[in-house]
Amino acid sequence: MNFRDDIVPYVPGEQPHIAGIIKLNTNENPYPPSPKVTEAIRSFDCAQLALYPSHRCDKLKNALEVRYGLPSGRVFVGNGSDEVLALCFMAFFNSGKPVFFSDITYSFYRVWCNLLKIPNEEIPLSQDFRINLMDGDAAAYGGVILANPNAPTGIAEDIGFVKGILKKYRDSIVVVDEAYIDFGGESAVSLIDQYPNLVVVHTFSKSRSLAGLRVGYAMAQEPLIAELEKIKYSFNAYPLDSLSLAAAVAAVEDPDYYCKTAQKIIKTRTSFVEQLGALGFQTLPSSANFVFTQALGIDAVHLSDYLKSRKIYVRHFNAPRISNYLRVTIGLPEHMNTLLREIEAYKKTCETLTI
Ligand SMILES: *Cc1c(COP(=O)(O)O)cnc(C)c1O
Repeated sequence: MNFRDDIVPYVPGEQPHIAGIIKLNTNENPYPPSPKVTEAIRSFDCAQLALYPSHRCDKLKNALEVRYGLPSGRVFVGNGSDEVLALCFMAFFNSGKPVFFSDITYSFYRVWCNLLKIPNEEIPLSQDFRINLMDGDAAAYGGVILANPNAPTGIAEDIGFVKGILKKYRDSIVVVDEAYIDFGGESAVSLIDQYPNLVVVHTFSKSRSLAGLRVGYAMAQEPLIAELEKIKYSFNAYPLDSLSLAAAVAAVEDPDYYCKTAQKIIKTRTSFVEQLGALGFQTLPSSANFVFTQALGIDAVHLSDYLKSRKIYVRHFNAPRISNYLRVTIGLPEHMNTLLREIEAYKKTCETLTI
């Protein structure tokens, strides 16, 4: 028996089931999914569940192709973008050469490299937390993955930057994880036609308020999508159930609703960052539905523990360079106001303690 002692699994944020908590730790959307999604689930014929779902997922793929103006054959769908990304690692990062990604980014990338025994090289973000993947020797790397906007910093790189990476690493696949793109970044979807080495991955979990449904997708030129399909059919032919497929199609068909909720979150983010600033916090410029923030003289773990005792959950990462930051999801305006009041209260207790 050979146990995989080398594997260090991903640790998801806490999902506590406590009444009245304010949950700002896993970047879920505070607004409900589109009413069209609710309607699709209500009117779903449960007799259908006796049958296998559509393994081709044509309706959902077509809806996404229409939404993004892509010709048929350029969309792949899966059980959450985590699954889609894992299949990308299997399909595209198997040359034996190391995969290139930032040291501070979505921590699942490292986990998949471990699991699949893919060598990898982590490139430090710059001093101001910008992505720094342009200096590598293109011939030495077997692929690149970046989150744009990056997590947990929230910082977005512009389309010119993504183009630079695509050109420089033209002989390997570049995966752009756009989980947060609808909150202010510039999508690379428009580059798919020009770049045969580009894969753009999106999720329904953040801007479409459907983290519980587990739907994600990849967009790329046809040969790359065909390669993903090949891996999928060698692993699990039915990763999406019929109910999720029906609900996801309804979500794609209501972009107006989701534009409105994304705009609300952006507005809340702007005022929250401003008020955090007034409390002495420095916040990185965010294009996501969360902010990454720290305050001189305030211990992030201590503050996070205090907030938890007040039933507010935020996320802390115990990693070099970011251990004094907290990642705070943008919730409803009233959630953010409660949080700001609690931070004020916390600062007062600190003052009395130091006297
Ligand atoms: C949330 C997130 C995902 C995973 O999304 P799911 O579709 O829920 O699996 C992927 N990448 C990044 C950067 C994320 O923040």
